[in-house]
Amino acid sequence: MMHFLCHCTDCQIMFNGSFEGYAISRDELSLEGVLSTYTYSGGSGQSIHVNFFCETCSTKPLTQTDILDGIIYVPARLPRDQIEFKPKGGMCIGLRPSWTNKPECLVEPYTENGTV
Ligand SMILES: [Zn+2]
Repeated sequence: MMHFLCHCTDCQIMFNGSFEGYAISRDELSLEGVLSTYTYSGGSGQSIHVNFFCETCSTKPLTQTDILDGIIYVPARLPRDQIEFKPKGGMCIGLRPSWTNKPECLVEPYTENGTV
């Protein structure tokens, strides 16, 4: 559905750097195993993000938000070499660490959260 980056402070803390991933329909992904949940308020304060992670290996296979019900965010490296990651959207570009480069393929940069 969409390849994107997020440089918000929440993503930088949770993913040990900016989030790089895909936004896809929840119906397009099936998962097996036991996943734990962590819920917090999003940057806008209006939405709740729910992250799931494997209790065994701590992989974070997906994130979802209440504000975009039915859409999940999958880290770009999770499908390994199955998809070439080319981010078109960039959220919270104003918070991009100065030591990272802006990808040439980025066409929709939002200084703040572009979800709204
Ligand atoms: Zn973020």
